[in-house]
Amino acid sequence: MEAKARAYVNDILKRVKEVNNGEIEFIDAVTEVLNSLVPVFEKHPEFIDAALLERIVEPDRQIIFRVPWMNDNGEVKVNRGFRVQFNNAIGPYKGGLRFHPSVNLSIIKFLGFEQIFKNSLTGLPIGGGKGGSDFDPKGKTNNEIMRFCQSFMAELNMHIGPNIDVPAGDIGVGAREIGYLYGYYKKLRNASEQGVLTGKGLTFGGSLARTEATGYGLVYFTDEMLKDNNISFKGKKVVISGSGNVAIYAAQKAIELGAKVIALSDSNGYIYDETGINLGAIKEIKEVNRGRIKDYLNYVPSAKYEEGCREIWKIKCDVALPCATQGEINSESAKILVNNGVKAVAEGANMPSTLEAIDIFQNNNVLFAPAKASNAGGVACSALEMSQNSLRLSWTFKEVDEKLKNIMKEIYNNAKNSAKQFGNPGNIVMGANIAGFMKVAEAMMYQGII
Ligand code: GLU
Repeated sequence: MEAKARAYVNDILKRVKEVNNGEIEFIDAVTEVLNSLVPVFEKHPEFIDAALLERIVEPDRQIIFRVPWMNDNGEVKVNRGFRVQFNNAIGPYKGGLRFHPSVNLSIIKFLGFEQIFKNSLTGLPIGGGKGGSDFDPKGKTNNEIMRFCQSFMAELNMHIGPNIDVPAGDIGVGAREIGYLYGYYKKLRNASEQGVLTGKGLTFGGSLARTEATGYGLVYFTDEMLKDNNISFKGKKVVISGSGNVAIYAAQKAIELGAKVIALSDSNGYIYDETGINLGAIKEIKEVNRGRIKDYLNYVPSAKYEEGCREIWKIKCDVALPCATQGEINSESAKILVNNGVKAVAEGANMPSTLEAIDIFQNNNVLFAPAKASNAGGVACSALEMSQNSLRLSWTFKEVDEKLKNIMKEIYNNAKNSAKQFGNPGNIVMGANIAGFMKVAEAMMYQGII
């Protein structure tokens, strides 16, 4: 049976590579998940007969559209918009929108594929999807952002709805963008369907703690993993890449648990402050001024700044939380982290460690938490926002935060138990993939060949 399961997985991987030629990010994401699933197919040959993998690697649909908009000088610009609706076996498609010049179909498909299993792990009824545009919000005025969002929604609205597909934020899409997107959706539909988007402002259906959720959830998950190995955050040196809302709120929670956060970065470089980062300054730079991380030196002149986005991994630390973007830790950075004695690496961004980097961590007994488990707090809180919208009620910060903490604990236990049950104790990558997959697979088995 083992040989049959392996052959099946290899066969699907080969086909995925052929038909998605050159889509490196998507192929890497599929490779990581499928390689973890071999023991599942050994136990469940009926999944092979139902062609579950063939169906799960092919999105339900992929929408690509033109987004024309006018800049403040009256020039017409055109970007490309995407929404990939991957799998809705357990609930409406759910996943963020990313606005970044690097966005292409491969990146949206990799993110959408990951989202299927991440969303399943939350235990909440949400399917997997993702979207975005190669639009670069950097340096654009509020009016330009608004016009872009309106044009984007003019097309997207036809494909989404509170029970169909529920987008949210991701890189380059925060509360401002979600506000403009929601406003235009409401105008086009003439309906107050608040559950169509999550990450909304608090005055029109947003959830308390959504802003903090991904970062807090990451630290709750990491804390669980550390405690399980008799380690505590207290007094630990933590390096966090990025300075968006995942990084900022991961830092906040880690500091609250007694850790010392000594570095943060943006796409230009990183700051190192051995006395512990002053988060108030970072929030002012990033959330109020929309400035660069280098500006931190104006607040703390004794801190160091260095250009280059991978350089941050040279800093000696106990815990590394990559919260910037995919592929930011390659094998070289992973080796440096290991040589410097890192104890745990937990992913806040989506797929920040390359497949080779993950191998290096696992082969050197570094505790490793994969994104689809450790950064699931954001989308979990989005699902709680959807629940509140359906109830037409708002829960308190404490209520949402407690639910979030429990969800992250559950995800850790679930991933840990699945790894053990399928013969690879301690391998949270494998456990998370299996636990996320099993729920979707069962739902697909019940629903017939669709
Ligand atoms: N973009 C986030 C993620 O990668 C959140 C998605 C959501 O809230 O729908 O999970």
